[in-house]
Amino acid sequence: MTTPAEPYLLTPGPLTTAASTREAMLRDWGSWDGDFRAMTAQLRRGLLAIAGDTQGDYDCVPLQGSGSYCVEAMLGSFVPRGGHVLVLANGAYGKRIATTLRYLGRRHTVHDTGDYLPPRAADIERILAANADITHVVVVHCETSSGILNPIEEIAAVTARLGRRLLIDSMSAFGAVPLDVRKLPCDAFVSSANKCIEGVPGFGFVIAKKAVLRAAQGNSHSLSLDVYDQWDVMNRTGQWRFTPPTHTVAAFIEALRLHTLEGGQPGRLARYARNRDVLVAGMRPLGFEPLLTEAWRSPIIVTFFSPADPAFSFERFYELMKSQGFLIYPGKLTTVESFRIGCIGALDETVMRRVVQACGTALRALGVASGTPAATSLDAREALAA
Ligand SMILES: *Cc1c(COP(=O)(O)O)cnc(C)c1O
Repeated sequence: MTTPAEPYLLTPGPLTTAASTREAMLRDWGSWDGDFRAMTAQLRRGLLAIAGDTQGDYDCVPLQGSGSYCVEAMLGSFVPRGGHVLVLANGAYGKRIATTLRYLGRRHTVHDTGDYLPPRAADIERILAANADITHVVVVHCETSSGILNPIEEIAAVTARLGRRLLIDSMSAFGAVPLDVRKLPCDAFVSSANKCIEGVPGFGFVIAKKAVLRAAQGNSHSLSLDVYDQWDVMNRTGQWRFTPPTHTVAAFIEALRLHTLEGGQPGRLARYARNRDVLVAGMRPLGFEPLLTEAWRSPIIVTFFSPADPAFSFERFYELMKSQGFLIYPGKLTTVESFRIGCIGALDETVMRRVVQACGTALRALGVASGTPAATSLDAREALAA
């Protein structure tokens, strides 16, 4: 699926893209031109279709920059200055949401469940009941720092039942993990070009209720991150307000075509889930243990504990994997040593089998007999899950 001269990116975006997606960038586009405006319209329609918006209640607003720009734009545009946000955090991206709200000067309360556990409806119900002034709940769909798949269905249900508004960072999930606005009540969610749709980096997008977009006028602290203004100008002119990432958009149109060809979200989920299952099943005999129990393990990225053997060094392991054609990802946990292997991108189970083989070769080169983690790492997990 890629030329052997290039390594596979086993990372959660940027990721390995299809050759045709990259080839779609081999010409220049005028940002004001009708052809490019048609591409922008096609992109917005395609994303709304994946989100299940058959009623026309939602709209899609693409925005220049990486995913975090869209998270910041969503928070700054939709949380009123007098709002109060409950941030459900269980990893680095949840923490980044809290940091963003601090920069924006928006009042927030953090419910942190650590690296291994999801936020649950009963806890959210208790916090919302005790804090009548909380207006919004923000959750990360797949917390990419561990790979945990948070139960957004039960979170959406309790948030709606208690009359609060839900915003979702679905950056690393949308396009592969179901997020259907007909079934999941939310005000808005965000994702970006270079995750499960398998485009190249350069923009993200906000999918929001039209009523929420209309009400956002004047809320934003920032001109370039004002979702309302981007939406309003795009609807009136068909253009992005400022220079659009034209080549990224062209690549994204091809990525969307491939997404449809694969069977849309269900087709993509099936391939990623198979990638994960082949990876975990292959790593176990080498001694490697995934951080998360099966119930919360996403098909997006898998975190493995680092081996206990003192001969293991992530830096050397990384270089040995790279020399075999695979770029893996360091861990991002607060308490234990770990590393991550992504399951997303233009790669399939045959690639995953080669990844497992390469891990075995790298361990042998390091003189590490087994990938078995330290007992203390496993104990920490058991204690928290109990
Ligand atoms: C990738 C990602 C982001 C955005 O990161 P950028 O580096 O700004 O693209 C935000 N949240 C989650 C959960 C992500 O996986």
